[in-house]
Amino acid sequence: TTVVKIGGARAVDPEGALADVASLVDDGEDVVLTHGGSTAVDETLEDLGKEPTYVETPGGVVGRFTDEETMDVFKMVMPGKLNTDLVESLHNEGVDAVGLAGTDGKLLEGNRKSAVRVKEDGKKKIKRGDHSGKIESVNVDLLETILAGGYTPVVSVPMLGKEKSGGYTAVNADADRAAAAIAGALEAALVVLTDVSGIYEDPDDESTTIDSASTPEEFESVKDAAEGFMTKKVMAAEEALEGGAASVTVATANADEPITSALAGAGTTLE
Ligand code: ADP
Repeated sequence: TTVVKIGGARAVDPEGALADVASLVDDGEDVVLTHGGSTAVDETLEDLGKEPTYVETPGGVVGRFTDEETMDVFKMVMPGKLNTDLVESLHNEGVDAVGLAGTDGKLLEGNRKSAVRVKEDGKKKIKRGDHSGKIESVNVDLLETILAGGYTPVVSVPMLGKEKSGGYTAVNADADRAAAAIAGALEAALVVLTDVSGIYEDPDDESTTIDSASTPEEFESVKDAAEGFMTKKVMAAEEALEGGAASVTVATANADEPITSALAGAGTTLE
């Protein structure tokens, strides 16, 4: 089984990846496609006259703050528009795709977090009303049932968040971490397709792409190299491997057969 995560950056063109999913499925390979879409969520928020909110944790990690209105837009854009577009494109490639949100069949479940620790103007604060959560379980049975039927699942966040008071709320979760949780649970190879060729030693220089990392020392140098959003991808990759994934490859989406190439050694492979 191969889990593929396709990035949501504007610079990512999914066409090559979708054709590659089709040829893998045609060869009898089980593929689970997952996707991000933060840029599209931000664009829709702005179209609706709302400024996207990003907060910094005391540890310096930047992430979205998802208030109730943002959560509504998130639901419209991610499992709505973006997931449906990918399912539509896969049908045009001859793939019998099934779109799923993390909320469907408790595919992605875990505790909701509504209060987050943030650093604002140098001061530490607690910000309440966040709609986010940490994925603790993946409904493997649901994915395996769909795959066994000859369908190809296309998975989008949100996840199903468990409230402390009981009950559930659909909440935001990082798409790379969702892909990592799925790859771990399926003990699959994870291919993370993005707008860069891999993880670069020097973030501005493609010719410094790190080929692979497997020892603790090599992992440290990958972590040192990653900046900004790539930091989150490396964290997600570690979670995937700890969770049971066979390998994680970060590679470009903008190529002819990006998944096949990544599985054959293109990009940066962590294992
Ligand atoms: P996606 O939308 O595909 O999930 P992100 O924007 O979250 O992708 O992450 C990819 C970005 O990470 C790249 O466009 C690049 O700007 C940034 N980046 C930071 N450090 C590195 C690095 N060491 N090597 C490659 N890219 C890096």
